[in-house]
Amino acid sequence: MKKPNVYIIGGGASGLVAAIIAKRQGANVTIIERNSRIGKKILVTGNGRCNYTNSLANIYDYNNPDFVSYGLSVFNPQRAMSFFSDLGIVPKIENEGKTYPLSEQASSIVDVLLYEINRLGIDVLSDSLVTSVLKRNKEFNIYLEDGRVIDADRLIIATGGKALSSTGSDGSGYDLAKDLGHNIVTPFPSLVKLKLDSPYLKHLQGIKMPAIAELIHKDKVIQSESGDILFGNYGISGPTILQLSRKANDLFLNGEKVYIKIILVSQMTRKDVESRFEKSKDKAVDQSLIGMINKRYISAILKESKIEKQKTKVKDLSDKQLKKLIDLLFDWRFPIRGSKSFNDAQVTAGGVDLNEIDDQTMESKLVKGLFFVGEVMDIDGRCGGYNLQWAWSSGYLAGINSSKE
Ligand SMILES: Cc1cc2nc3c(=O)[nH]c(=O)nc-3n(C[C@H](O)[C@H](O)[C@H](O)COP(=O)(O)OP(=O)(O)OC[C@H]3O[C@@H](n4cnc5c(N)ncnc54)[C@H](O)[C@@H]3O)c2cc1C
Repeated sequence: MKKPNVYIIGGGASGLVAAIIAKRQGANVTIIERNSRIGKKILVTGNGRCNYTNSLANIYDYNNPDFVSYGLSVFNPQRAMSFFSDLGIVPKIENEGKTYPLSEQASSIVDVLLYEINRLGIDVLSDSLVTSVLKRNKEFNIYLEDGRVIDADRLIIATGGKALSSTGSDGSGYDLAKDLGHNIVTPFPSLVKLKLDSPYLKHLQGIKMPAIAELIHKDKVIQSESGDILFGNYGISGPTILQLSRKANDLFLNGEKVYIKIILVSQMTRKDVESRFEKSKDKAVDQSLIGMINKRYISAILKESKIEKQKTKVKDLSDKQLKKLIDLLFDWRFPIRGSKSFNDAQVTAGGVDLNEIDDQTMESKLVKGLFFVGEVMDIDGRCGGYNLQWAWSSGYLAGINSSKE
């Protein structure tokens, strides 16, 4: 039997790996990419260094552990490293398992993928926007914006999500999935800065420091992260906050009240703080905080403690004021009022409904010969190399299975 013609819509991370694997299996492979070149989003990943996998990745780093389980066991981070190592990438593993090319250039990842694509003779149709798809009998008809219609035996939708649409992924893949009868779980931005409701943002804007940040829902901590936080005039960002943003946004968009709790003095016990105030009882309260928290927090935290005069001596504070101040040092809550947009997000939560995709093959359960890979599906992971790892794992599975006769 002849090997199938596999068409891949989208020349991003997942589509490129799917193409290479399918071609190595002997299929005739063509990538259709709307941009003039492939791999545009890869270039901006990891602040231009491309955190291309995470050596510690496990299924619980994703929104749907069960679904990613098979793909991550077959094409795991070690396999991803060896795939890229065979193409020339020397891995550099940094803290928390984050893995980058030793060259520290995201372009290295694109360069080696492109080299392999050319070496294998994979066709790339660039500047080709797909506007709709149909399945007739056993064949897919792919309609391009310029009027061309392409026929394919197998189709892989690798169009990404909606984050940073200037790279080409603007959500048009969802319409293609819908053309073929698939359901889309409403997309929303993830790994994104959070907007806060607080009168103190002007005071806090620009403060960057390590802290513990916790997500509070119904007065319970539902996620806790530590690392840098950064206040802006809209709210808060930093790696810690990006990690909390998925759950925060999901709950907020479902009409729930959610809060970010900041622990400013996580290294200290309540007793330490109380005895510090005891020792500084003759100092002005603003002075007593210096050396413990960033100076720029002081006027805001005093206002929130209802201490109007910053020069009030610690010994002259009421018990209630002092208690409130100490409480805030350990638990300062800010109501969340949404997030920045998709254009500020690293990843899209939501996408093609996973109930309609086979987790062992990435093939649609509704349409034979149709596959999904990468972020277009309702899969998203934490910040730290997990999303590209999913692109490679799912690309691998679809590459193998779409090329079967
Ligand atoms: C700023 C930023 C930094 C990031 N850093 C990291 C990181 O360090 N590590 C990590 O793991 N993840 C990171 N990510 C996330 C990661 O880049 C994505 O999860 C990953 O690229 C998804 O791969 P994909 O193949 O699904 O989609 P994409 O890489 O987005 O590729 C989709 C491709 O499809 C094309 N396309 C879309 N629609 C059509 C159409 N209708 N017709 C033709 N072509 C189409 C697009 O032009 C694009 O080339 C980052 C994301 C951003 C925005």
